[in-house]
Amino acid sequence: MRWYANIASVGGLLPIVTCGCALDGPRYSTEHLEIQTAFVEPLCGGDLQRMELFVENVQEMLGLTLADRIDVFLWDDFSDLPNCPRGATGCYKRGRHSVYTEFSSLNHELIHAMTAELGRPDHFFNEGIASALSGNALIFKAVEPTASLGKSALDVDRGAAAHFTRWLLDTFGTSRWRMLQASRGREDDFAKIYGVTLADAQAEYFQTAPWVYPPLFQWEAPPLLPASLGWRGEVIFDCASEDTLGQPLGIGVGRTLRVTEAGDYDFWTSADLVTVVRQFDNGVLSMAEAEAGADWDFPVPNQLRPFGRGVAVPGGAIVTLSLEEDQYQLIITDIDRDAERAGVVVFPHLGPVDVIPESP
Ligand SMILES: [Zn+2]
Repeated sequence: MRWYANIASVGGLLPIVTCGCALDGPRYSTEHLEIQTAFVEPLCGGDLQRMELFVENVQEMLGLTLADRIDVFLWDDFSDLPNCPRGATGCYKRGRHSVYTEFSSLNHELIHAMTAELGRPDHFFNEGIASALSGNALIFKAVEPTASLGKSALDVDRGAAAHFTRWLLDTFGTSRWRMLQASRGREDDFAKIYGVTLADAQAEYFQTAPWVYPPLFQWEAPPLLPASLGWRGEVIFDCASEDTLGQPLGIGVGRTLRVTEAGDYDFWTSADLVTVVRQFDNGVLSMAEAEAGADWDFPVPNQLRPFGRGVAVPGGAIVTLSLEEDQYQLIITDIDRDAERAGVVVFPHLGPVDVIPESP
């Protein structure tokens, strides 16, 4: 197995990877990734498509071309990650061009892997780019981002670094960012590359940066189709399908819901549950929405697993959610992996419902 080959090649480091936890899972190849999982439950067509699209998207945005495939070792939790600092949810090892991670940090670590050959700047910029493009909405933080300059990778304020880095990319373009990434990323490097001091750039940032940047990459599932009232559909749990995610906690089928009118909507599914995640497809959010961020019903998408974040609607119940005009990702999930299909229904909330709608 590729895993053994990798272990053999690192010789003296063997003791930290003897947990054996990666040996049971299957292996997958995509155009840019070699993936080995530490769990036996299969990844599905949607997982692999989503990972590959993410890599292609980042390459395109940053003008990168991957010379070699990245080896990805994927866990379903981070309590036992070999090679990474204790408590880390993932890490990238340059020497092996390998990512060791649980789901939630996969995108972040993939960006480290993709940008590694450019250079190794100050952690502020290195963590900034990895967090800026990893698929989350980026929220302005009322701190001076550059206060993190010179800090360790673990101590950098990643949210602030990500928001600032995204602003740098949007304001000055990719080519200067590439030069910055190839430099040491210190203040004098910055001034030389951008023609403005870091302090002045930060002052301009405070004046002009939007409160929230929507995610740069979203996996888009097929649409949930309109019905006479609202939307409904039947999904099939087929792991080979590109709309299906298969992960340790269940198998899920993705659907995209486009809401054109804000209001209360009732959700119902015959599956074990459906998670609902807002995608912020309408661009930059208002300051009011950003300030209310802590209270959002719909956290930003950060999940490569159906149970990551979002609102979970349990099967068999009618649950009312307040939706803004936006796009939402639905993952209809079967936990036991024994169901073949399930129905999902979304309709405008018209008041108390006496009769549970039939599965379509
Ligand atoms: Zn990082």
